[in-house]
Amino acid sequence: MRSIAIANQKGGVGKTTTAVTLAHALAQLGRSVVLVDLDAQGNAASCFGLAPTPGLYRLLLGLAPLEDLLVETRPSLWLLASDASTAKLKTILAAELYRETILARALRLIEADFVIIDTGPSRDLLHDNAHHAVTEVIVPVGVDHLALIGVAQELETLKVVREHGHPVEVTAILPTFWDATTIESSVNLRTLVETFGDLVLPAVPRTTRLREAPALGRTLWEHLPENHPATQAYARLTRRVLDGR
Ligand code: ADP
Ligand code: MG
Repeated sequence: MRSIAIANQKGGVGKTTTAVTLAHALAQLGRSVVLVDLDAQGNAASCFGLAPTPGLYRLLLGLAPLEDLLVETRPSLWLLASDASTAKLKTILAAELYRETILARALRLIEADFVIIDTGPSRDLLHDNAHHAVTEVIVPVGVDHLALIGVAQELETLKVVREHGHPVEVTAILPTFWDATTIESSVNLRTLVETFGDLVLPAVPRTTRLREAPALGRTLWEHLPENHPATQAYARLTRRVLDGR
């Protein structure tokens, strides 16, 4: 099994969109995928046209077994959802022993090919738990503004996690919200490539049709044409994950 977190301590950079799109891509290619939502906004469920539910809360507090909480949202794709209750976990779990590995231990029994974890925007206990529950991280970066700060913070956090003995590597940095009409987009993208080289994948363009997809409960693959640049960028991300190229 492979485990991948989608993380960047900034909000609104395309984390949830990337998590949902990648999870559905892998499922469509016949892999079994569990998508775990770690954000109290519960957006992952909404992206599939479902209401947010307290799946993560109930799992981590031992209120129900994992198999009762996973919802099959698409063939081969199961969601462990979040809702506002997730915010309470940070304080409830703060006093637990080995509190950074609570999620890793709760997900241990999963037999899927992939576990994809969508994280929230803050550096908190749930974020620490995400890092300890995976061995790979994908960092989406909005190139529309101050792109480097979020990546630098995320990489710094990963370094600390590694220094504490948990092996976790960056699989890809995915530039998002690329806008060909702004100089800022080009400058930020160039800086990213100069700094991080081959880790940086082709950018996902800012796309109105992608923004409207969650409101319709559709994923990118159900709402955008195959030849759309955003579709191609996410197909490229999927190839990086599957082939390492
Ligand atoms: P995060 O999870 O990092 O907060 P989201 O994936 O929720 O970011 O994206 C923030 C908002 O931008 C959402 O409304 C989403 O639908 C929209 N969005 C994501 N990617 C794009 C894109 N490439 N172009 C336009 N809108 C996007
Ligand atoms: Mg999100």
